[in-house]
Amino acid sequence: MDDAEDAADAEPVERFRAEVREWLRSAPRPGGLHDYGPTPTAADIPAGREWQRTLAAAGYACLHWPRRWGGREATVAEQAALAEEAAQAGVPRQLNIVGPDLVGPVLMAFGTQAQCDRYLPRIRTGEDMWCQLFSEPDAGSDLAAVRTRARRTETGWVVDGQKVWTSGGDGAEYGLLLARTGGPGHGGLSVLVVPMEVPGVAVRPLPQMDGESKFNEVFLTGVELAPDALVGEEGQGWRVATATLGRERLSLGANAVGMFRALDDLVAAARVRGRLDQYLREQVVDLWIRAWLLRATWERAIAEGAEPGAPSFSVLKLLTSETQRAIGDLGVEALGPDAMWSEDDEPLVRRMLVGHAQTILGGTSEIQRNILAERVLGLPREPARPT
Ligand SMILES: Cc1cc2nc3c(=O)[nH]c(=O)nc-3n(C[C@H](O)[C@H](O)[C@H](O)COP(=O)(O)OP(=O)(O)OC[C@H]3O[C@@H](n4cnc5c(N)ncnc54)[C@H](O)[C@@H]3O)c2cc1C
Repeated sequence: MDDAEDAADAEPVERFRAEVREWLRSAPRPGGLHDYGPTPTAADIPAGREWQRTLAAAGYACLHWPRRWGGREATVAEQAALAEEAAQAGVPRQLNIVGPDLVGPVLMAFGTQAQCDRYLPRIRTGEDMWCQLFSEPDAGSDLAAVRTRARRTETGWVVDGQKVWTSGGDGAEYGLLLARTGGPGHGGLSVLVVPMEVPGVAVRPLPQMDGESKFNEVFLTGVELAPDALVGEEGQGWRVATATLGRERLSLGANAVGMFRALDDLVAAARVRGRLDQYLREQVVDLWIRAWLLRATWERAIAEGAEPGAPSFSVLKLLTSETQRAIGDLGVEALGPDAMWSEDDEPLVRRMLVGHAQTILGGTSEIQRNILAERVLGLPREPARPT
């Protein structure tokens, strides 16, 4: 491909970026809206919902969805451009990650027409917020060990079990549940829709070390669900869950593009404190290079048409979260003792705290390394865990 073709290819993305930037400059912002990341706290939800409605009205909600569901069939590059511009403007790119990025595509791929008609429009406009009910106290990295059970009854399903780390569970209208409907292992899992207000669902927020409370424990006791709660076929849960996790990795990568802004903030904070010494300068340059490498890897994955489940997205997830964590940690070094109390630089402290979570959510760094070792490098598989 020659340069002229390259430019022609790049143009639509850059045009889209300019259009979004212009819109973001004058778009009406609900009071209290700030860039809260992929999940709002309960207090952030009203402004987040209104923002989602505004995005939907302007055609910037659920960009990657097909046009028939109100999306723009946006490329990954366009999604990344929106994420980058939203980060620059200091606003979230959507109400939360789960409905638009995970549940929507999964319902389109595995759900019935009736499920799509019922849920998709309300996800797009922010009327319904969704949460992901996958992890359990003894099933995180080893998700196939899920023990929450859904039993078929004459009237539908009854669910019993416990979930944990449910982001946004205390504000969500619906949860996408991974439950055991059959025997042990992958083949015994299914995915169901749980309305969070039905009897038997109890949500308990978990306080975090950063003072916020975005996670929850969710207890499900004799929860009765209608027959049409099942997404896909019974026993197909692992395929549905893997599709969800692939999209999660893709979305996390798209969120990572705010790194350059974080590095700018970090340098500014160090400069005013006279802390921009040789050590810090070298670290900043190193991270700046890593951020560019990350961007180049992103662009390559996009150009190669990699699917969300592809190993390149494991590389991106790993690189992104490790770099975000390193930038967060360096931000605290830039602040020095001020990190203990300075309210002005709170975003840098928050970035450090969030950076550590990034290497866990959506599949830990160790798990990404396992995937790369086994699927890409062909190294011997890990020995199976004794049962
Ligand atoms: C910010 C955030 C948001 C989240 N949101 C949600 C949500 O909305 N819904 C939801 O269902 N879950 C959510 N999670 C949970 C997340 O998916 C799990 O934390 C993650 O899968 C890891 O599981 P675990 O915490 O049980 O750790 P474990 O699986 O117990 O792992 C503990 C440690 O052992 C390591 N380890 C485990 N297995 C291996 C192995 N085979 N090889 C090498 N090392 C290994 C891990 O890397 C980790 O360091 C969220 C987590 C975070 C941090």
